[in-house]
Amino acid sequence: MSSEVYRYKVGDIGVTVLSDGFRITTSLDGYILNVEKLELLAALAEAGLPTDHMKNVYTPVLIETGGRRVLIDTGIGESMFEQTKGERGRLLTNLAAAGFDRNAIDAVVISHFHPDHVNGLLMADGTPAFANAEILVPEREWVFWMDDGEMGRASEGRMAELFHNNRRVFDALDRKVTRFAWDSEVAPGVTAVGTPGHSIGHTSFAVSSGTARVFVQGDVNNQSVVFSKNPEWQGGFDHDPVEASATRRRVYAMLAAEKTMLQAYHHPFPGLAQVEQDGTGFRVVPIA
Ligand SMILES: [Zn+2]
Repeated sequence: MSSEVYRYKVGDIGVTVLSDGFRITTSLDGYILNVEKLELLAALAEAGLPTDHMKNVYTPVLIETGGRRVLIDTGIGESMFEQTKGERGRLLTNLAAAGFDRNAIDAVVISHFHPDHVNGLLMADGTPAFANAEILVPEREWVFWMDDGEMGRASEGRMAELFHNNRRVFDALDRKVTRFAWDSEVAPGVTAVGTPGHSIGHTSFAVSSGTARVFVQGDVNNQSVVFSKNPEWQGGFDHDPVEASATRRRVYAMLAAEKTMLQAYHHPFPGLAQVEQDGTGFRVVPIA
């Protein structure tokens, strides 16, 4: 199997981690809001990471549970594959390499409405990528992004662009979605967990079978070193940075105490890890 597909089991549930590729960011200005850039660079250097750029991977997962194939998040979309010369937009390629037909996906569950998670719902020509799948979205996320009043009040730039992108994607699907509430089961053994902050309705998923459990975090923590050690550092890409950092501390304290495995969307592939307490913060220890 290629280095872009990684499989494991959670009890009876099969998990296939699928790379959608990556994005390199060269400007680290504004990445952290409440500490100086020099402190960020020092944290990266201490972890042995480059200080002139950041690599952000995208990592959807396919869950096989109760005879159903359930995809969590969809990557940046096929249309980006050509635009980035195959750097990202790789989900469908890797899905096929893993032996799955996109038309045989039963359900797609979305963690939140940012382009690197929802744009893969569409093919490059704007048709549905998962024609036979039920599309499940967090109720809170849907209500916010589909509210015309909220869209009217959105600030210029990123927020306005996010509203337009979400309307584009879900209008192409005739807004045919199933909305789910936090703490409800979205598939057998897969429970939606409210982890707001990164976005208003940001959602993670607790996957459990028997005594085995993995926590699919979405974007609770977008950089495995920096925000683990310093949960209170506030990311410039979080909708509510204060709430996002409180969520991060709460979730990581729970994962460390319960020794629950973490599956992370933006951590180095395949993003499977244990979380350990480390001083006043945490450490993400890759398992794969
Ligand atoms: Zn993301």
